[in-house]
Amino acid sequence: MDNTEKLHSITVGFPEVQIFVKKSQRAKRVSLRVSGFDGNVFLIVPVRVNMQDAKKFACEKVEWIRKQLVNKIEKVLVEHGTVLPIGGVPHTIIAGDGKKIILKEGTIIAPFKEKNFNLRLKAFLIELARQRFCERTDYYTKLIEKKYCRITIRDTKSRWGSCSVEGNISYSWRLVLAPKSVLDYLVVHEVSHLVEMNHSINFWKQVETLMPNYKEFRLWLKQNGERLHSYQF
Ligand SMILES: [Zn+2]
Repeated sequence: MDNTEKLHSITVGFPEVQIFVKKSQRAKRVSLRVSGFDGNVFLIVPVRVNMQDAKKFACEKVEWIRKQLVNKIEKVLVEHGTVLPIGGVPHTIIAGDGKKIILKEGTIIAPFKEKNFNLRLKAFLIELARQRFCERTDYYTKLIEKKYCRITIRDTKSRWGSCSVEGNISYSWRLVLAPKSVLDYLVVHEVSHLVEMNHSINFWKQVETLMPNYKEFRLWLKQNGERLHSYQF
């Protein structure tokens, strides 16, 4: 049985991290604990501390929590035979004769004999991500009649995307591994910041206008997003 069933939970950060709240008679100060067993995050709150202060503490520590969670997830070394999702569809890495990397019907045909094969495959995926993000960003910005300045593809663990006041948008390339609708959700999210530079009700209304079922994909990211970081190149 799940020991978190009866606990109240809060969410912090974006992508959101779920934290279970444990009230404690004995604790002297607010603390965080990440379970090594199932990756659940607990916020230990002394009875005398109010929830607002405790939540503030958790918000400040969100990057630390993310690091702990990534470390807890099993690493998958990308090599011959590894199954790697692309657009959410499993692709098996197999050896090919040529020098090129080719995507074909559930396989990634890769030149294992080439030097730095892993880095080449990673570069290939980053380029694939760039193409998809650019195409989808063009599509959605046209719909809302807004312009962006520049798109940057990053390999950050702390966030999936960002949008600056100047209209510079960045995305994590690892979203190319997620189902296409999840990648689209990130695009919709960042593009919506060109209209609303915050996470207000109006912002989420804008997101919903472009993608009525966005919550489904936001939840997917929350539940599965960290796994996208488990692949080691
Ligand atoms: Zn945002």
